[in-house]
Amino acid sequence: MKVKRIVLACRPGKDGEPKTENFRLEETDLIEELMDDQVMTQTLYISVDPYLRCRMNEDTGTDYIGPWIISEVLDSGGIGVVEQSRHDHFKPGDIVTSINWPWQTKCLLQGNSLTKLDPSLVDGHLSHFLGAVGLTGLTAFLGIKEKGHVIPGANQTMVVSGAAGACGTLAGQIGRFLGCSRIVGICGTDEKCSLLTSEMGFDAALNYKENGLADKLRECCPDGVDVYFDNVGGEISNIVISQMTNSSHIILCGQISQYNKDVPYPPPLHPQTAAILKERNIARERFMVLNYADQHEIAIQQLSQWLKSGRLKVKETVVSGIENMAGAFVSMMKGGNIGKQIVQISG
Ligand code: NDP
Repeated sequence: MKVKRIVLACRPGKDGEPKTENFRLEETDLIEELMDDQVMTQTLYISVDPYLRCRMNEDTGTDYIGPWIISEVLDSGGIGVVEQSRHDHFKPGDIVTSINWPWQTKCLLQGNSLTKLDPSLVDGHLSHFLGAVGLTGLTAFLGIKEKGHVIPGANQTMVVSGAAGACGTLAGQIGRFLGCSRIVGICGTDEKCSLLTSEMGFDAALNYKENGLADKLRECCPDGVDVYFDNVGGEISNIVISQMTNSSHIILCGQISQYNKDVPYPPPLHPQTAAILKERNIARERFMVLNYADQHEIAIQQLSQWLKSGRLKVKETVVSGIENMAGAFVSMMKGGNIGKQIVQISG
């Protein structure tokens, strides 16, 4: 059987912006005969995420994620439907997921690499398993729970950078659910800012591409910033951190503004910012969602409940077709998405 897949054509270089030319669409033959424990799946949705940028480098800079290999099929979080199975746990029609789903229209996968999903958790809206009721939601929820030190009733102000993205839109809302009294978002367009305040419950939102971010932030956070959910790093974070209160907390979720640069993760702080952290006793601990696997199941139940009750508002940017995978990734890295960027492969 002929299937389509995306392979890595060439690397952008550690200091380069990813481009669609780094990827190649191919047609290939898929063996249709299943061996014991194998499952044949049709791909439904694939997630494109900022961390994939480091997989485009020969050396990812981490020991827990491997680099993508030139001319080999790429992979990331994905969802599919089982068409045939020789694994006891799976039968045709089951919805399954993996964090290493091949960027391919149909795949022959080892059953033990898959997790079965319960569509009722997302009211049948399966792509939410890659977003609000998947690793993105877990990142926002567990990041705040573990590193935010939110105290209900303590009148805390939370700032979220990358606020109109997948994690950011959820982090702002969950920060409020867990007890922050004021939520301020920072993102890259006026359209995103108005969405955050009109639909996502943010008290204020600022466009970092306009002048005067520091002054505007001070106006929005008159008592300073108590909790900072940091998705971006760089100059935006220098500004936010300069307005943080004593003994406040940073959730070091990601540093996307530095991902196209040849720097380690987390990137070194500006000396003035490092001095502020020390003087004010600001905690800035790295958060990694995969380190909290023991909490995932219960947190997914909570995220599902918030989603299904309508309390948690969810945005997605969906493009269709495996031929648009590269474009979706490149666009997301530059801010083309609102909420979770998803690629619908079929279904
Ligand atoms: P998003 O949906 O937020 O998409 C990325 C967004 O980053 C873009 O939409 C863009 O929005 C913004 N951006 C891009 N370049 C810059 C820049 N130079 N300065 C400021 N903003 C920029 O992605 P995710 O929600 O999936 O990921 C958000 C962050 O969370 C990333 O840093 C990611 O690595 C991290 N992450 C961490 C995890 C963990 O376990 N710690 C797990 C999952 C994600 P805009 O228009 O606002 O510029």
